[in-house]
Amino acid sequence: MIPEFPCTQCGLCCQHVHLSHATQFLDSGDGTCRHYDSLSKGCSIYAERPDICRVDRQYVLHYVQQYSWKEFVDLNLQVCRHLQSTQIVSSTRDL
Ligand code: SF4
Repeated sequence: MIPEFPCTQCGLCCQHVHLSHATQFLDSGDGTCRHYDSLSKGCSIYAERPDICRVDRQYVLHYVQQYSWKEFVDLNLQVCRHLQSTQIVSSTRDL
């Protein structure tokens, strides 16, 4: 059993689906996923979300031979931190 990915539910990956070829099909036109609910800051189809949105599923399907779960989590968290730092910069610019 794979431990749960430590998602902080910031919603930033769902607001930047245009940045990856694997998630561009979800883009509503402004980079945000067409299933993202900005009011709840969550996925409106969470239980049925695509495999690409499931870190544990992606790991089992494509990366289990290459990385340990911890390594894979760390790589994904690097992307989370990058998006969060970009968000901080753009929020500061809006001041
Ligand atoms: S389908 Fe859901 S989890 Fe996947 S990017 Fe869209 S809002 Fe996020």
